Amino acid sequence: MVPEAALKKFQQELQGFECKLIAVSKTYPPEKIQDAYDCGQRAFGENKVQEMVSKAEVLPEDIEWHLIGHLQSNKVKYIAPFVHLIHSVDSVKLLQEVNKQASKNQRIIPCLLQIHIAEEETKFGLSFQEAREILNSSLLEELQHVRITGFMGMATNTSDHEQVRKEFRQLKNFYQECKALHPKVNVQLSELSMGMSGDYRIALEEGSTMIRIGSAIFGARDYDKV
Ligand SMILES: *Cc1c(COP(=O)(O)O)cnc(C)c1O
Repeated sequence: MVPEAALKKFQQELQGFECKLIAVSKTYPPEKIQDAYDCGQRAFGENKVQEMVSKAEVLPEDIEWHLIGHLQSNKVKYIAPFVHLIHSVDSVKLLQEVNKQASKNQRIIPCLLQIHIAEEETKFGLSFQEAREILNSSLLEELQHVRITGFMGMATNTSDHEQVRKEFRQLKNFYQECKALHPKVNVQLSELSMGMSGDYRIALEEGSTMIRIGSAIFGARDYDKV
C-alpha cells in the first residue's frame, strides 16, 4: 500500500479516539517521509539518532521528530535542538543528560519513561517500581528542562491477544496510578505511547494516546525479513 492509502486508513481508524499517529520511518529514505508529509502526516518516529539527524536536515522544519529507540547519553546532544518527544527514557542518568542538553538549547524536552511490559527479556525499559522511584525522586525536581509526559511500552510479540491486552492494561493502570499521585512541575502525565502495526487495535482499546506505526504504513523493512 502506498503511504497515502495507509495514512487515510489510519486517520479513519483513529476517529473517535484521542490518539495520535506516529509514522515510524526508520530505515526508509527521506523521499518516503516526504511522500507521507505531502499527505499531511507531521509526526515521524526514528529509532537511531544519526538517522534522525540526517533526515531532519533535509526534510521540512515543521516535522515533529519522535525518538522511539534506545538512546545513549552521549548522543543526546545531537537531537536536543529539535527532538519533539523522546519515548525511550529508561534511566535517571539519561534524564540528567537530556536536561543538560535541553538547558543548553534553552528548551524543555518532553520525555516518556519506557516501561518494560513484555515477557521478552531483550527489550529495554524500566520496571514499574523503577519508574515509580524516578517519579518520586527529589532529584527530578532539579531537572527543570525535562518534562515527563507519560509512558511508552511494547507488548510481547505474540499472537496471543489476551496476553498483549493484559500488558497494555497493566501500563494503563500504572499510568492512572501515577497520575493520581503528587504532581511535580515537570511531571505532567498525558501520554501513553503503545501500539505498533501488529497490535495497535488492542492498544487503542486499552487507552493508547500515541500509536507508533511503521510497516503498516511504509511496508516491510528489510531487516524484518532476516
Ligand atoms: C520499529 C518500531 C515501531 C514500529 O513497528 P512496526 O511493527 O513496523 O509498526 C514502533 N515502536 C518502536 C519502539 C519501534 O522500534
